[in-house]
Amino acid sequence: MPQADRAWDVETDLLVVGAGAAGMTAALVAALEGLHVILCEKSDMVGGTTATSAGTVWIPGNRQGRPAGAPHTIEAARTYLAAMLGAHAGDPRVEMFLKVGPVVLDYLEQKTSVRFVAPPIHPDYKDLPGAAIGGRALGAVPFDGRKLGDDFARVRPPRREFMVLGGMMVGKADIPALLAPFRNWTNFRHAVGLLTRHALDRIGHKRGTRLIMGNALVARLLDSTRRAGVDLRFETALREIICEGGHIVGAVLTSPGGEVRIRARKGVVLATGGIGWSRELRERLFPHAARRFSLTPSSNTGDGILAGERVNAVIERDLDSPALWMPSSVMPQTDGHVSVFPHIMLDRAKPGLLAVNTSGRRFVNEADSYHDFVAAMLRSNASASSVTPAFLICDRAFIRDFGIGLVHPGTKDLSEFLQANYLIQGETIEDLAHKIGVGGEQLAETVERYNRYAETGIDEDFGRGSSPLNRFNGDPQTKPNPCLRRIGSGPYYAVAVWPSDLASSAGLRTDSCARVLSHDGKILAGLYAAGTDSSSIFRGTYPGPGTMIGPAMVFGWCAAIDAAGALRRFPDLPPG
Ligand SMILES: Cc1cc2nc3c(=O)[nH]c(=O)nc-3n(C[C@H](O)[C@H](O)[C@H](O)COP(=O)(O)OP(=O)(O)OC[C@H]3O[C@@H](n4cnc5c(N)ncnc54)[C@H](O)[C@@H]3O)c2cc1C
Repeated sequence: MPQADRAWDVETDLLVVGAGAAGMTAALVAALEGLHVILCEKSDMVGGTTATSAGTVWIPGNRQGRPAGAPHTIEAARTYLAAMLGAHAGDPRVEMFLKVGPVVLDYLEQKTSVRFVAPPIHPDYKDLPGAAIGGRALGAVPFDGRKLGDDFARVRPPRREFMVLGGMMVGKADIPALLAPFRNWTNFRHAVGLLTRHALDRIGHKRGTRLIMGNALVARLLDSTRRAGVDLRFETALREIICEGGHIVGAVLTSPGGEVRIRARKGVVLATGGIGWSRELRERLFPHAARRFSLTPSSNTGDGILAGERVNAVIERDLDSPALWMPSSVMPQTDGHVSVFPHIMLDRAKPGLLAVNTSGRRFVNEADSYHDFVAAMLRSNASASSVTPAFLICDRAFIRDFGIGLVHPGTKDLSEFLQANYLIQGETIEDLAHKIGVGGEQLAETVERYNRYAETGIDEDFGRGSSPLNRFNGDPQTKPNPCLRRIGSGPYYAVAVWPSDLASSAGLRTDSCARVLSHDGKILAGLYAAGTDSSSIFRGTYPGPGTMIGPAMVFGWCAAIDAAGALRRFPDLPPG
């Protein structure tokens, strides 16, 4: 453990490491509270996983989503979380989150350029008492990247798989217009507007400047941190935390200019994006079948958690799951890039698709949340000694109408995907089964059974289409069940999907003010953790859209407010 026995290179009030949602919020708020703040980011861009995410922020009881949906009170959220978390709903951090959440949103909207908007419908992920259809999940208001000037290049771009035409961001609301621009005047105007703006953008920029989702949130946070005077340092990575007499007093970082020792008078905030690609932590904490693919950026390598452990912090392990998952398909591209495509909501819930395990049997309600899908996959895989994918199965009409993974709806020429073995084609179900290595008779029986359910509209095995979330992501034109349609004539197609983590939930144990706790449960004075460096308050469950970034921002705020000694200004909050 490095000691503070050498001279400091730099001094500050608060040192924040990692510029994702958690770190940028902590740095911004601390600066607004009058602290001198250094925010160090390992890569040459801000944003981390946050920038590549949908950017949804789940904060019950917020003012911004009031018109959107019901029940949307904090009390209803308490009921929902009690049903979700059982005895763990009494964790003081959960109460802090519920009380602080709306305060944080208003604080940011009043003092910074961060703005939120609520889509009318964005259902919680579990059909439990107190669940909301909308209002809790907010998105950042789109942002014009041109306003950032040179800093625009410092915003981590979205995943390549989620952009079209060389860098244009596409949100869920843009898809109908882009797929059918001539269907009506509204579609036409929207599509032409997007394409014209993008064409103009590409004259002076490497990618589109119309930023939405996680990119909009990060751009707004960057704009605000600059205005607040945060000292932002790129390519500067946490290596060790420095402890003196049981107090955290600073850190050693690596930078292009060499090693830097930064003294932090009010503390150090760890926000380096969780377990990410850390091989050591993945082997220690993740099930074997889920270690191969991560959706986090390559710069997330568990640095905050590992450095925390070295100063006696402890990883919370008693969780429902060590990470939150998405099923991802994988396709190597001709330029060497390997596309890992998370199947979030565009295909799994649509009618006419089913998922099978390597026995050719369905194992899950395919329209449930991506996390629940993979959790079922891991259960189904538990007996196998090697890592096996699941397969999404559909017919040609499904690809025409909805697309599957990297194959966009309406794609006529499938050869690129077939040659890469991304899409596997069989003339009959038995032929397809043979090609993907599952029992032909079993797969034919599974499809037949699914087709019977499509006729009645009732999935007797898994209840597909029975929850608001299922129906929200289904196809409203398909009746009686928006998530069920007959799998028709061949050819048939399969895409392999693998478990991949979108975020770790196992992280450092913290208290309700984001202070890191040691093995004996005592506060490690001067050390905070937020975002995925801290253990999830939802304990590896996934209550709804935005339940990672919501707490990341709330506990980033708490860390800053605690370090600034400003908690007393918010008398309605729990004492911490
Ligand atoms: C496709 C996808 C969609 C998602 N959508 C949502 C959503 O809509 N809502 C939601 O709540 N969650 C979503 N998530 C999860 C969510 O994005 C993450 O959990 C969250 O953004 C993590 O925030 P963070 O601040 O902890 O870390 P990050 O945003 O990952 O930021 C960590 C930063 O720390 C930097 N860093 C790493 N090591 C060091 C070091 N040693 N020193 C300094 N800096 C370091 C990294 O480079 C990175 O910039 C999604 C994830 C994916 C993959």
